Amino acid sequence: MEPIVGIDLGTTNSEIAFIIDEHPEVITDNDDGIFPSCVGIGNDGKIIVGKEAKNQAIVAPDRTVLSIKRLMGTNQQITMANKNYTPQEISAIILKALKERAEKKLGKPIRKAVITVPAYFTDAQRKATREAGEIAGLNVVRIINEPTAAALAYEGLHKETQKILIYDLGGGTFDVSIVKIEDGVVEVLSSTGDNHLGGDDFDQKILDRLITYIEGELGVTVRDNPYVISRLRRTSEEAKKLLSSAPFATLEEDHIGKKKGKDVHLSYEMSRIDFENLIEDELSRTMESVTKALNDASLLPSAIDKIILVGGSTRIPKISEMLKEKIGQLPHSEIDPDLCVAIGASIQAGREMGVHTSSVLIDITPYTFGTSAIGEVNGVPVLDMFVSLINRNTKLPAKKSEVFATIFDNQKMTEVTVFQGENPHAYDNILIGKYQFDLTKAPAGSKIIIDFELDVNGILKVLAIEKHTGRRIQATIENAFSNEGAEFIDDARKRINGLWQSSFEEDEIDDASDDEVDGAGIENELPKDISELIQRAESMMDSVSPEDKDEIVNLIEDIVDAVNAGNMDEAKQHKQKLEDLLFYIE
Ligand code: AMP
Repeated sequence: MEPIVGIDLGTTNSEIAFIIDEHPEVITDNDDGIFPSCVGIGNDGKIIVGKEAKNQAIVAPDRTVLSIKRLMGTNQQITMANKNYTPQEISAIILKALKERAEKKLGKPIRKAVITVPAYFTDAQRKATREAGEIAGLNVVRIINEPTAAALAYEGLHKETQKILIYDLGGGTFDVSIVKIEDGVVEVLSSTGDNHLGGDDFDQKILDRLITYIEGELGVTVRDNPYVISRLRRTSEEAKKLLSSAPFATLEEDHIGKKKGKDVHLSYEMSRIDFENLIEDELSRTMESVTKALNDASLLPSAIDKIILVGGSTRIPKISEMLKEKIGQLPHSEIDPDLCVAIGASIQAGREMGVHTSSVLIDITPYTFGTSAIGEVNGVPVLDMFVSLINRNTKLPAKKSEVFATIFDNQKMTEVTVFQGENPHAYDNILIGKYQFDLTKAPAGSKIIIDFELDVNGILKVLAIEKHTGRRIQATIENAFSNEGAEFIDDARKRINGLWQSSFEEDEIDDASDDEVDGAGIENELPKDISELIQRAESMMDSVSPEDKDEIVNLIEDIVDAVNAGNMDEAKQHKQKLEDLLFYIE
């Protein structure tokens, strides 16, 4: 049987899981299973992924990409080591690394996957995710929503009839879903959220606070220095995590700049209450979504039997407090918030393979899909009135047909513009695409039936049928985003495969790496002995104690800062310290 894996492609971390002996298992690489969603180009021009890339982010922000999920479904190009990539290509590199991890463990090639996306991901973001899979050599047999995957993982352990609320706050996205579990049926009743809200925003809030403090109180300008900002961002994230278990955190960074020729160091104390105040607006917005999800499901808070938390950011204690206040109970803590999405994806993958068929999944669309027409909004005539076709919270797959009539004799073409959203003005919603249909010659008033089909992946297909000929017409999509076509996928696959082979396949390394090093054009090039030492240190980071890891990171930062400042004597001193530390650790 062809294996199908389940993949949680997260903003911060990603995981891959598979059904082994009928049980979902997260595939690890002698680690905790957590795989940072980070991609980088190393000093030698080769791709690095996961922890290795995350470790390099501080010293080489220009060669490292974090949180790519936030850009999925956009046309933005990402520059990494002076070369441009699409978000799909960067995500494909993460998927390729996960695929290899699973292939090593299972001992067979993996060509198919179920990939999860936030419930609130748009059509364009879903298509981009599928494209990333294809670039990575994976046929994405199904896209499922992250909270739905978490519900599948929970249902695997608790079959009793109940209604659960899933609150999913990760690094970059927020979703809330209400799910009914009954007689082996997992049915999503409502789903809502925010595509741009998550732990990254909380880090940014702390970072903004630090920048204001450093520039105002310490008198050093740091905002234009990507190396310092990268270090401060990492410190902000660490402090945020610490504040989930401690009432205070001290943010410390040495050598953040110079004032009157003297080194300036940062030491800033933040309390949990300060942090909670900083993110109050964001947390309130998530609670408004909880209210909306309850209303959409026509449920009172008291009808919820369990609250399930998903995503790393739900460790912030304030979230449990706010949910307790709103729903009247504390969240359930049995399910691992980091791994349950991948586990649920693998359960769905098992179902696609026909081995794990105990429960049925019914999902919904959190968005309304519609088109535009001439009409009235609040009594005012407008040209772009939004006419809904498939309403949010409709079960998937969903289909709706509309009849249109041609206006002119022998009309050659008709066009339907489709939007996703709720705003009464069509163009204030998200434009999905302009679907164009070439018509057969016919008198004015000929009927055209347009079918809107939203598939189980939440992706829209639009088809027209000429009533007088019975001809089915495929749409040509004039679309700014997504649906990139086979050529784009093929080219991207070749490009990423080439980069991958030159990075990981021995016999091609010599030729390719030279090109890549040239192409990488690393700014502030580090001397060879220093870059080798840093690589050695980075490769040891995962096996040393947290204190040693901090010390290594600090020394690497000191070395890079000194090199960037052109102060080679100082760089040498720090290099010596790092050599001594590595010697002592080894
Ligand atoms: P995910 O996308 O689910 O992997 O969630 C990652 C996000 O969770 C990142 O923004 C992390 O900084 C955040 N996170 C992880 N652990 C904690 C913690 N203990 N407290 C607060 N946020 C956390």
